[in-house]
Amino acid sequence: MTATAAKETRAFQTEVKQLLDLMIHSLYSNKEIFLRELISNASDAADKLRFEATKDDALNEGDSDLHVYIDVDKEARTITIRDNGIGMSRDEVVSNIGTIARSGTKEFFGQLTGDQEQDAHLIGQFGVGFYSSFLIADKVTLTTRRAGLTKEHGVHWESAGDGEYELDTVEKETRGTEIVLHLREEADEYLDAWRLKSIIHKYADHIPFPIRMMGVPVPAAEGEEETPAVVETVNQASALWTRPKSELTDEDYNNFYKHIGHDFEDPMAHLHQKLEGKYEYSLLLYLPKRAPFDLWQAEAKHGVKLYVRRVFIMEASEDLLPRYLRFVRGVMDTNDLPLNVSREILQKSPAMDAMKKGATKRVLAMLEDMVKNSPLADDDSSDITEAEIVGEEKEESSVNYADFWSEFGNCLKEGIIEDDANRDRIAKLLRFSTTSSDDQTVALSDYVERMQEGQDTIYFITAENLAAAKHSPHLEVFRKKGVEVVLLHDRIDEWLTSHLTEFDGKKLQSIAKGELDLSGIGENADEEKKAHEEKAKAAEPAVEKIKESLGDKVKDVRVTDRLTESPACLVSDQFDMSSNMERILKQAGQNVPDMKPILEINPDHELIQRLSKMRSKDKINDFSSILFDQAVLAEGALPEDPAGFVRKVNALLKQ
Ligand code: ADP
Ligand code: MG
Repeated sequence: MTATAAKETRAFQTEVKQLLDLMIHSLYSNKEIFLRELISNASDAADKLRFEATKDDALNEGDSDLHVYIDVDKEARTITIRDNGIGMSRDEVVSNIGTIARSGTKEFFGQLTGDQEQDAHLIGQFGVGFYSSFLIADKVTLTTRRAGLTKEHGVHWESAGDGEYELDTVEKETRGTEIVLHLREEADEYLDAWRLKSIIHKYADHIPFPIRMMGVPVPAAEGEEETPAVVETVNQASALWTRPKSELTDEDYNNFYKHIGHDFEDPMAHLHQKLEGKYEYSLLLYLPKRAPFDLWQAEAKHGVKLYVRRVFIMEASEDLLPRYLRFVRGVMDTNDLPLNVSREILQKSPAMDAMKKGATKRVLAMLEDMVKNSPLADDDSSDITEAEIVGEEKEESSVNYADFWSEFGNCLKEGIIEDDANRDRIAKLLRFSTTSSDDQTVALSDYVERMQEGQDTIYFITAENLAAAKHSPHLEVFRKKGVEVVLLHDRIDEWLTSHLTEFDGKKLQSIAKGELDLSGIGENADEEKKAHEEKAKAAEPAVEKIKESLGDKVKDVRVTDRLTESPACLVSDQFDMSSNMERILKQAGQNVPDMKPILEINPDHELIQRLSKMRSKDKINDFSSILFDQAVLAEGALPEDPAGFVRKVNALLKQ
């Protein structure tokens, strides 16, 4: 592809075709967003120009009055949106308008259901951007020139949104982009300047560039001349985060969020603070209501933009907020960074570092506030000192922390692994399912409060899913003793528990690892201990037989008191990898050293007692092997030889 190729027709990428089709059918009731999207793009383009021009003044081409101009032609039935931002080269047009390069696009389309309302939400999260022009237009032309290129390098793009577009090289005097929308029959209402102005107020008041339109001429009074129409600025054109909180309504905040977060829905909560200390900066941060579709993609976009003295500098970076807070959207603005230095230098600056730390603390504080204000919250959950905040009160949040947790909880868990400095704080924000509650609402502090007399450990189990965790044989003795166990069933939990080894001075302990000693818990502790020792002794022959039969399939065979119903279970050695972790790594195609489990047997179980008395070698072998494979199955894994297992069980059933 060369930039000088003349006129050509190209096909849209398949995903674009699909998107256009879906959008027109599922967003039909919210067509006005086309204007928000196009203004948002123009504003991004102005941001980029202003930033690049700080390093190369020639890009200004003598015109640094950055703005958006909107014109309506009732006769021709067109709306024109013109900016003098950065513009695009021919190659940029091809790759930006005509393809969707974002990762996860395929998966995204896979999620669509065909249900219009649901899909409208999904499409909202995905962001339809430029293509929303086709909501109201049956033909769109775009003429653009990249700042810094000469006027012969203008590009003309045109499409009816039907699968193809035309591309041509044209002359364009001024840099920037002009988009002409040829309205559909039924979109007449948008030819009304008042209607457009009200949409601009709604969505673009906070855009820091003026949006200009022709004013409406004042009709001439008797004997007077008509006052000629003049160009007027429609929006407030001041960056929202620089305005005092007292002047801003929830609607202002929500609309700004929709612009910056590319979201259709209102945010879940926001935080607007000016911080003064060694460094001075403003934060306007939002929590979305729903996780963006690409939250779990490796290249998931970060959503916080950095501004320096109101000039946009960069976006989407782990230098602004840690990765585990990648769902946060918003703006950080500071006076303490130079405008025209490279990204690399910015990234190493102590001011950036301080801002990142400060913003992280604020976001955690916002979550702590949500916990406090949520319906079921503890009153004494946390107290944050907000000394740094300049003369403003904290805002009330009306949202339920459980809603946040179900969308972003797994993301926050990464913070335990990533953010040593805030680990304790994050640990308090975690919520889990336990043996007393299935619905991921138990805080570790709730658990600690409910601990039994004599219990000094937080017990947990990891498994592939909630059902497997809940039905694990390891839980039997805990049920009997009434000891709560945290049920972990997300992939990340294995990593979580290897980093979170203590909470509130209590050790966290996997109930499927190492030797278990619950003898100190409960009333008849001493008697139980004695009884167990006796049983262990009686089961000695069974242990020996199984050990000999299983050979080096197991690390050890021993008698346990963790089982009340099952004959046997597998445990990992205290410092070995758990079998759940082993399975996760194997599924991910990683080489895992073979971990040998320990088989623990229940001396009270009839099968074990029968085995103690067995003589036939073959029978002992079959029995031992069935016990082992059963224990493997109970872990949610497959026996090494499933068919062999079935054969042995059937043989046993026949006897
Ligand atoms: P998004 O804004 O989320 O990237 P859009 O579909 O709105 O998605 O726009 C796609 C891309 O097209 C933008 O990222 C930008 O590179 C380019 N673009 C769109 N409008 C303009 C414009 N007015 N000036 C310069 N580039 C633009
Ligand atoms: Mg856009």
